[in-house]
Amino acid sequence: MKNSALNAQNLSKRYGGPQGIQGGVQAAQNVSLSVGAGETVALLGPSGCGKSTVLRMIAGLEVPDSGMVQVGGRDVTALPPEARHIGLVFQDYALFPHLSVLDNVAYGPRVRGLPRPQAWAQAREALALVNLAELGGRRVTELSGGQAQRVALARALATASPLLLLDEPLSNLDERLRAELRSDLRALFARVGAGVLLVTHDQREALALAGRVAVMRAGQIVQQGAAQHVFEHPATAWVAAFLGHTNLWPQPGGVCLLVPEQAVTVGEGEPYLVMARQPNDSGETVTLAHPRGPLTLSLSARESLQIVDGRVRVRVDEGQIQTVPDDREAVLEVRP
Ligand code: ADP
Repeated sequence: MKNSALNAQNLSKRYGGPQGIQGGVQAAQNVSLSVGAGETVALLGPSGCGKSTVLRMIAGLEVPDSGMVQVGGRDVTALPPEARHIGLVFQDYALFPHLSVLDNVAYGPRVRGLPRPQAWAQAREALALVNLAELGGRRVTELSGGQAQRVALARALATASPLLLLDEPLSNLDERLRAELRSDLRALFARVGAGVLLVTHDQREALALAGRVAVMRAGQIVQQGAAQHVFEHPATAWVAAFLGHTNLWPQPGGVCLLVPEQAVTVGEGEPYLVMARQPNDSGETVTLAHPRGPLTLSLSARESLQIVDGRVRVRVDEGQIQTVPDDREAVLEVRP
């Protein structure tokens, strides 16, 4: 691929013994992923599905059983982490407590052989990108959680790598900081022009930050595509449920009808009986007795006013109802 930041092909990793031995875990199975320069891709899946394992194989921190990794067009499969030229940001920021902020950020360029003045210059630029230009002289032990996370980001940016790998970068922060950093990150990714692979179990984070998503289940990528498209057209009932779709109506023949949010208009159409109501952050969640199946919706406070005599008018655009295979109970077969 032209201007490829990452091209990973058929990465597999088994922990704890060969196929068939009890207790072993096939953490990744033939995972292929690519990230273009300037593109942000989210690797999205529930806890334990193998996301970190994939990230660690790309970073060189885990040896794959098979597969290939190219970074910036260069085959790095056989190289140790420090020779791969990748910017890493992990959940625990792993900053060096005995070094200043500036020296932490300058660490990557220093290891790559830049003389101190140039390494510092690169570090100052990276700190400016994360809006911490004035904190270079601080000790990292004197930073807030949000600041420490920005320093970790700056450290990755200072490597000027074609590829940044971020593992749940916002998970240790509270909701307010997370929202703030999320919008900062989006702007930052757009500015630096590197390819970004972001690992997260949070679908909102993926949608907010990534142009493309790859959904992972039990060691395999089960759907990849433009973020918006994957959210609106999940390939299976499992993907739909994982992405937060609540209206999946099982049908005969192992399929489900999926009613995506965008198919429902409140305040028009037939009045349906409200079977359940529960307050949520932005209003309330209601479940309606729709003749084809129970319809669960999140209503704003204003929409709630339209509940009259225990009923609310709703129109479901039949043309937008999708039929998807119901794989929610499936045990994914792992081929040797
Ligand atoms: P995720 O990042 O999606 O939470 P991981 O890649 O951490 O998933 O883990 C995938 C699977 O591999 C899990 O079942 C986990 O318990 C197992 N696993 C991860 N690391 C190791 C290891 N070093 N040794 C044995 N099993 C591991």
